Amino acid sequence: MRYLFLILSFFFSVKAIAQLNINELQKENVDFNRSSSEYIYFKPSINTSAKNLENKIYDILKLSSQYQFKQLRSTTDNQNNLHIRYAQYYKNYRVCHVELIAHDKNGVLKFINGIIPTKLNNTVEINVRENAALQTALLHFGAQKYSWQNDAKNNILQNSNTTLPKAELVWVQKDGAIDTYNYNSYILCYKFDIVSSIPFDAKSIFVNASSGKYEKYIQLMAHCNPVSVSTSFYGNRTISTQLLSGTTYRLANDCNTAKLYTVNWPFNTYFQKVGNTWLDDSLRAAATSLWGLEQTYSYFKNTHYYNSWDNQNGDIYSYENALFCNTANCTPNNPNNASFYRGTMKVGWGSSGLFDDWNSLDIIAHEFTHGISDTMAHLVYQNESGALNESFSDIFGNTVQLDVLGNVANVWQIGEDRTNFSGGSSAPIRDMANPNNYFDPDTYLGTYWQNFATNTNDLGGVHTNSGVQNYMYYLLAVGDNGTNDLGNYFAVEGIGITNARRIAFKALVDYFLPNSTHQDARTAWLSAAEDLFGIFSQEYKQVANAWYAVGVCSNSGNELLADCGTITAYSDKIFYGFKYIFLGLCGNQTINPASNIVSYKAGTIITLMPGFTATQGSNFRASIVDCVPQ
Ligand SMILES: [Zn+2]
Repeated sequence: MRYLFLILSFFFSVKAIAQLNINELQKENVDFNRSSSEYIYFKPSINTSAKNLENKIYDILKLSSQYQFKQLRSTTDNQNNLHIRYAQYYKNYRVCHVELIAHDKNGVLKFINGIIPTKLNNTVEINVRENAALQTALLHFGAQKYSWQNDAKNNILQNSNTTLPKAELVWVQKDGAIDTYNYNSYILCYKFDIVSSIPFDAKSIFVNASSGKYEKYIQLMAHCNPVSVSTSFYGNRTISTQLLSGTTYRLANDCNTAKLYTVNWPFNTYFQKVGNTWLDDSLRAAATSLWGLEQTYSYFKNTHYYNSWDNQNGDIYSYENALFCNTANCTPNNPNNASFYRGTMKVGWGSSGLFDDWNSLDIIAHEFTHGISDTMAHLVYQNESGALNESFSDIFGNTVQLDVLGNVANVWQIGEDRTNFSGGSSAPIRDMANPNNYFDPDTYLGTYWQNFATNTNDLGGVHTNSGVQNYMYYLLAVGDNGTNDLGNYFAVEGIGITNARRIAFKALVDYFLPNSTHQDARTAWLSAAEDLFGIFSQEYKQVANAWYAVGVCSNSGNELLADCGTITAYSDKIFYGFKYIFLGLCGNQTINPASNIVSYKAGTIITLMPGFTATQGSNFRASIVDCVPQ
């Protein structure tokens, strides 16, 4: 199976996030047809705004005045809807981690959502002084040095205590309690937010206000724990994992705003365990995936200043050991594929052993790039735009691989690392340097080009016709010469991967449109090259040469003329006024055998008629209208 399909939709189940008994609510104002324990909808007759909830909520939720709700923040969206977030208090103490959001539409409260334990009946008992509680908290934190023990000059910790931490008295659930609605699990505690400098860490520590006992802690600092893992294809590599609590770790990267998770697809559970070691064979593929995601994330951030798949630091979930369908509506049974849709990646683990999973670096980067193409260019996943979408994924799949691993053998193949590490034979699915090797075209409309009308099972040949732009990119980066399927001789001078990838990324995000064709693609790449390197720069001309090489547009970069330029004379040759490539205008200008000076306009085709002769290496002049011939 050679296809990497894009999955077009993925549904998450919505978790219950509110826990109210709706039958106990104020009946006349609640819209029971729409409400559930998750969301409480109101009838328009409620005639109040989310802004008034602090005073009204006791009535609506049938609560006693021992409950309070205090506004945390309020936002207005671009439809002018108001969203106000409230914190819950009980007997004047905040209920830790319990919040409610009220939503207005047209100035009237429409619904609320949130976790609201409504039957707290605890008494307030404070038998311990704050200072004694702090000593208990520090004993449990156990750091060598705290933030307030650094002198100001050496204090590298921003926004942390420079004096002893102050406690807040809060209601918090006992350690291990899961059900937020369980009112018996709440206890009144001193909560200290403590930052240490050795080791560098931050936690909330809870000490029982009645007994003085340590109760629990909550991790405040995202832990980013480096550890060496054994990967499927790249030997031992260092990744970062997430410390959940105590000694329990998750195979996830929480070092950056965008979190990278691995999920065990058959069970829909995170990969997590006691101890930060991930060397078991059963964990190898998932660890390889996390390593690949980290490398790809870093490449786009450091090279193109682009944050995660959506440039908004969106999280990514890698669903590992996934199965796919070969046909519509099948029961998923194919382990040989990978896909990406809006931060959700699915990766199969192959069908021939431990080193056959689809987590090779170029495949992970390929999938990641689908997120970028969909977010930035909205490239429609069918026919020509779909082939270009696929091609950008191959382009950056390979570019990330080159960046991380260097110019290793067969690096221009796609998926060649699968099975390599185990000593088995390589299993590439495409080759950007020679698309024909895998029955993909290297020329627009050339050999192996898929006809949209007949190729329906791959959406018009998106995984085949991608070969055209793939080969163009290879030629642009590396350079080569030859004759394409149209019989045209081409010679492209490689501009190097560093310049080629800059042009590729800029073209994708700034110039591609949802239905871009290969003709549009050429203009997009030229526009990006002009932005970065200038018109008629070496890079610009080689972009034109590379597209000429793959049969898109009939003029090469060597035939593009600068303003007021001097044309070297050859017989039997057609030249193009340079703006032809942008405007598509053309009016013919003929140079007769006797003539040796011609003025040409933007968009003019200049034809040297048979019989025109000039000694090779000699010059004749041509100029656009605004120029004075020299
Ligand atoms: Zn793809």
